[in-house]
Amino acid sequence: MAYDYDLFVIGGGSGGVRAANRTAALGHKVGVAEESRFGGTCVIRGCVPKKLYVYASTFHEHFEDAAGYGWTVGEASFDWKKLVTNKEAEITRLEGLYKKGLNANQVDVLDTRAELRGPHDIWLSAENRMITAQRILIAVGGTPNRHTSLEGHELGIISDQAFDLKELPKSILISGAGYIAVEFAGIFNGLGVDTTIVYRGPEILRGFDDDVRELLHEEYIKRGIRIITEQQISKLELGDHDKRKATLSGGEVLEVDQVMFALGRLPLTDSLGLNMAGVATDDRGYIKVDDYSRTNVDHIWAVGDVTDRVQLTPVAIHESMCFVATEFRDDPQQPDHEMIPTAVFSHPEIGTVGMTEAEAGQKFEKLNVFRANFRAMKHTMSGRDSRMLMKLIVDVATDKVIGAHILGPDAGEMAQILAIPMKMGSTKADFDRTMALHPSAAEELVTMYEPTYTVENGVRIGA
Ligand code: FAD
Ligand code: NDP
Repeated sequence: MAYDYDLFVIGGGSGGVRAANRTAALGHKVGVAEESRFGGTCVIRGCVPKKLYVYASTFHEHFEDAAGYGWTVGEASFDWKKLVTNKEAEITRLEGLYKKGLNANQVDVLDTRAELRGPHDIWLSAENRMITAQRILIAVGGTPNRHTSLEGHELGIISDQAFDLKELPKSILISGAGYIAVEFAGIFNGLGVDTTIVYRGPEILRGFDDDVRELLHEEYIKRGIRIITEQQISKLELGDHDKRKATLSGGEVLEVDQVMFALGRLPLTDSLGLNMAGVATDDRGYIKVDDYSRTNVDHIWAVGDVTDRVQLTPVAIHESMCFVATEFRDDPQQPDHEMIPTAVFSHPEIGTVGMTEAEAGQKFEKLNVFRANFRAMKHTMSGRDSRMLMKLIVDVATDKVIGAHILGPDAGEMAQILAIPMKMGSTKADFDRTMALHPSAAEELVTMYEPTYTVENGVRIGA
């Protein structure tokens, strides 16, 4: 049977676009459908606008820090509408580049929602027509959890809306303490918004190294962010003057301009027609895939946030590249999810790669932990009370550096570079024989010669 396409991709985000371009470049007939804007979450309502807003939110600190270096900075003011407008221009430019790249590779670019209607049949709703494809890649990503079980949840916003608020709120309550909650708390606080985090657990950023979590918590308090732990919002109501009245599980009532939910993301598989194609999902709606990203239906694949793996842009892209190699280059490749570097673009930033101390303590009998907590050189003269943390975790049996955790300026940049030697299996001895670059903060990573403490069978000794 002849199909309309060799490959049809549903979703024009990080994963989908890369797979479409790569496959078309190999000479195959490829189509891609996007129901919203090409570029997907990362470009339109994720990594890119987020990082731009993080930049925006740091300037006031730079202005303050300048005084210690002799500068007098005039009265500063901030224009939220200008930031939103300029952000929009930038993401529109990137969206254009995405489309241009697809067109250059002769991918059929379709601005429509697509849904499965059978194992090879796809319905394009905006075009009111059916197409067929020999192979299908599902890369539809996810959407924020809107906390619909909460009474009054419709009064809250999610990250998609936070980027385009008409007015900068004077106060905000953010529910959750993962990547998005912590990053947006830093953004809003940096822009002068009275910011509170409410989180159900004992400490922010579950899954990150405990030292980093605690120090960021302290840094956020110093910056005026209120963090309420072991509580949740139990009810949300409209208060006077359009305020949001949030009742917390502990009984406190907070009146704020906005409430934002940052409670994880849900896969966009609800009305995708997966049942009509026989594609299986898990109980939360994520598409089940094997080690190569193939679903239970042989010619249907899924990559990125719609699968329950790691929700990061480079991961979605990597999974796509492995899919193309496996299916179109006769070079089977399993995505490698080990040693993924990641950053939280908080103030200060977190950069991390490899295992946390808690994870490593479960896996390895004996660890050496090298830790430095210091004031970055810049702040000796700026006078800012801000600490920097560097931590290396070493498996004593092999001397391999299995975890690196940094909190401070440019931590994300450092984690990216550290990921290379760590992926190669570098030992602490390799770090020790590497020449320091002075004066830098990163030199700390190669000059921590003596362990700060050891961990035996998960228990800290000499800490
Ligand atoms: P997406 O990029 O979400 O793309 C899926 C696309 O499919 C979307 O454009 C959607 O409109 C489209 N679609 C859905 N259903 C259909 C349909 N039926 N028909 C047609 N089109 C459809 N990751 C990082 O690595 N670093 C960061 O700093 C970072 N920051 C983030 C900040 C925020 C606020 C958020 C929300 C996410 C962030 N992420 C970050 C995560 C990153 O954006 C995602 O992991 C990544 O975008 C996943 O790519 P994807 O291709 O799986 O899905
Ligand atoms: P996260 O999984 O990082 O955090 C979700 C937060 O919500 C956690 O604090 C979680 O608590 C809490 N939570 C979840 N469900 C509930 C509930 N029902 N009631 C109360 N609290 C709840 O998700 P995010 O939404 O912050 O971000 C989504 C993903 O996007 C991230 O996991 C990450 O992969 C990606 N991302 C990456 C960024 C980066 O690379 N810098 C930036 C932003 C997003 P608990 O921990 O107790 O489960």
